[in-house]
Order: sequence, then structure tokens, then C-alpha cells
Amino acid sequence: MLENKAYKFWFATGSQDLYGDECLKNVAEHSKIIVDALNKSGKLPFEVVWKPTLIDQASIRKTFNDANNDPECAGVITWMHTFSPAKMWIIGLQEFKKSLCHLHTQFNEEIPYDTIDMDFMNENQSAHGDREYAHVVSRMGIERKIVVGHWANPDVQEKLGSWMRTAIGVMESSHIRVCRVGDNMNNVAVTEGDKVEAQIKFGWEIDHYNVNDVVDYVNAVSAADVNTLVEEYYSKYQILLEGRDEKEFRDSVAVQAQIELGFEKFLTERDYHAIVTHFGMLGGLKQLPGLAMQRLMEKGYGFGAEGDWKTAAMVRLMKIMAANTKDAKGTSFLEDYTYNLVPGKEGILQAHMLEVCPTIADGPISIKVNPLSMGNREDPARLVFTSKVGQGTATSLVDLGNRFRLIVNAVDCKPVEKPMPKLPVATAFWTPQPNLEVGATAWFLAGGAHHTAFSYDLSVEQMVDWADAMGIESVVIDKDTTVRGFKNELKWNSVFYR
Ligand code: MN
Repeated sequence: MLENKAYKFWFATGSQDLYGDECLKNVAEHSKIIVDALNKSGKLPFEVVWKPTLIDQASIRKTFNDANNDPECAGVITWMHTFSPAKMWIIGLQEFKKSLCHLHTQFNEEIPYDTIDMDFMNENQSAHGDREYAHVVSRMGIERKIVVGHWANPDVQEKLGSWMRTAIGVMESSHIRVCRVGDNMNNVAVTEGDKVEAQIKFGWEIDHYNVNDVVDYVNAVSAADVNTLVEEYYSKYQILLEGRDEKEFRDSVAVQAQIELGFEKFLTERDYHAIVTHFGMLGGLKQLPGLAMQRLMEKGYGFGAEGDWKTAAMVRLMKIMAANTKDAKGTSFLEDYTYNLVPGKEGILQAHMLEVCPTIADGPISIKVNPLSMGNREDPARLVFTSKVGQGTATSLVDLGNRFRLIVNAVDCKPVEKPMPKLPVATAFWTPQPNLEVGATAWFLAGGAHHTAFSYDLSVEQMVDWADAMGIESVVIDKDTTVRGFKNELKWNSVFYR
């Protein structure tokens, strides 16, 4: 499901013909060496493709338009090796529609003190040329990522790699299709939103079906297929009967297997990548999709509960951006549930009724069957686990009436102090940065939701860059946040995004 397209990023080097053929030959050679080193660094999730040096308006315009028209190209990395008069770049930049990165680097790392002369200076003057180029990009108001430093430095390579994932988020956002089989929960404000505006801003297609359209697919799943999947569950997860009858337990689990297969077929046939349910709108479903939704999230689908399509799309988006991360720790839908307010141990217990993605699990995953505290269905089967330790990024996309705002909070995930044997749901536990008091105050001031799209594998910077590329407001809550500064930022933003 979470197929990764083989996107590529073009590397465009700027120069001009003022310095002669010998210089241009060196420029081309240098940029080829850089591209080769970047591709061999192991730090970039996608391939960089070298392009011939750009020295005039026509070649610049053609390169950017070729990039627009190449479905494999997700963005262009630009670098002015020498001076490249930037008026030549205006038309090309104006017509360019994809993500732009300005890699401000230089071929040599150190000044060659013993040999440096004016020829060397003229050939290696990105400190000069990149300022000319950046001036025009700024004057044109074009969003771009600036990465500064020597190309062989692993930190610089990592920053490029991180930007690539944001650029993939920009590309893939317009391919996200959300299937709603439940509307927004009655009377709930924060999960509501303008679906037309979401399509304009993000490209998301957000459709609705009667849940019984999917129930038909669930009912059509063969007993043999259900049994095979139940066998897989039983081999993969620990079974916690907790006094329940073995046969009844297995039948309960089989209901979720049938839901997983039926929903997956429905979504695949219609090319949907995220799903929204509502515990109060289950039609002919025997159980609230719990284990089934957890498994679909693990396969790469976005999910939002109680009709929350914004979070469903964000979970899908973040799963795409984080795809194939080395030693990935996971991405999930989560909900702020309950607090620990003991001084020095403050944190928020994250969970949901059932639907937490097993990619964030730490250690063994179990299946439990328990009553649901809401709704009127059978006791649903669900995967139960605790989550990994480490920093993560929690996001909430809210609709303020005249605009979307993405709230991005760096959070520190911690182990809970003691086991919670009576809690039959998957959980995470985190302290928002800079601490619970300031973090929660800022989150409230920004109007953040109780539902979040969360990832261990994406940074605050990547999410903010994505929001910038989408042209929406973002606010960050992290170790540098103060309530006074944050309130001022919201005031200034309210003018800017008027
Ligand atoms: Mn909820």
C-alpha cells in the first residue's frame, strides 16, 4: 500500500560564459563530483540527477520546465558555482512548480592558502554568486529550502535528505484521497473543516460513502480468507484471553480480520489512501473497526476517528514523508487522553478507543477483546502495546475559518512508570516541549485539537517546511517556546494571514 515512487531530484548548477571554456569545464566536473558523492553518501533517500551547467535564460527556463513535466522529478537543487546573473533565472523560476532547494556550498572546503590566485577566486565564488541568486528568489517571494555548508559534510547531506522528504510530501499531498464512512461527530468543533479549501490548499480529495457500502465488501470476504488472516494474527501477536472463552475470543478476532480484508478491498478498488470512521455510524458492522484499522495504518493508510478527515490525511501524508526511513520508529494517529500531573513527571497519556498504529510499538504486541465504553456493538478485538521512547513530532491541522493552521509540537516520549494492566488499549506517553505547562498553554492558544498525527521519524522543521510550501500558517511549540513570545507570534500571524 505504501508504495514508494522512485522520485529523483535534479541538480542544477549556475554559471555564465564570462570565464571561458576551461572554467566551465571545471564547473561541470565539480558539480558531477558533488552529485556522485551525494548519491554515494547513503544520507539521501532519493537519487540526485546531474544536469548540464546553466549559463543563460533559455537553458534555465527549459530545465525548470522539463523538471515540471517529468513526473519522476520531485524537486530541483540549485547551486551557483560561479557568478550567474540572476535576471536570467527569473522566467524559469516563475514557471517552476515543484520544490526548490538552494544548496549553498563550494567545491573546495578550505581556502588553498598557498596557491590561491584570482583565477581560483573567479572560478570558486559561490559566496558571491549565491547571494545574487538568493536575492532574486527572495524578491520573487519563492518558497525554498536553503542548506548551507560543504557538500561532503554529513550534516549538510542529512539536511538535504530531510528536505527531500518534505518535497515528497509536497508532491504526494495532491495524490491523497480520503474515504469517509462517517461524518464529523455531532457538535464537535475542532475536527471540522472546509473540504473545498483543503483541496485547494493541499490537493486532498475527501469523499464520503455510506458505511454499508463497505459492509457489503466486508460481508463478501470468504471464510477461508478470514481464517488465513486470523492465523497470521495468532502467529504474530500474543493472545491475551484474560479469562475469555477461547472460541468466542477467536470469533471476535475473526470479525476484525473480515473488516480488515473488506475495507482494504474497498479502498484499493477506489484508490483511497486514508480512511475515516465514526463509532456512532457503524451501519451493519458488528464491531468498531479496531484491530482492522490498526493493521491498515501499519500498511500505510491514514486514519482519523469520529469523522476527522484532516488528521486522517495528515497521518497518510506523514507516513509517505517518513517512508523507508532507516530504523524507523513509526507514525500514528493519536489522541491526548489523560494526564500525569505529578511534579517532575508531567505528561500526557496518548491513546484512542482502539486505533493506534502498531508501527510505534515498543516490544511485543498483544490482542485483547474488551467491551468498548461507547456505542452499541460487540466487544471489539484490538492490538495493545506501549510505544517507543524518544523525541517525536505531534501535529494538529485546524481550520480557523479563514485559514488552516498547522500546530507542530516537539514531544519527548517516555516510558510510563508502571504497567497499566487494566487499560486495554495501545498507548504512548509524552511530555510536550518545553514542558507540560507551557506546551499545553501554547497548544490551547493556537487552537490545537485532541487528535494528532504523530511521527518519531519526522522533524518539526520538515513539517514547518511542508506547511510553508503549502502556503499555510504553521506555529511551532518546542524547547524555545515561551507563552509571551508565542502569543505575540499568533498576533503577528493573524495580520499576515488575514
Ligand atoms: Mn477521538
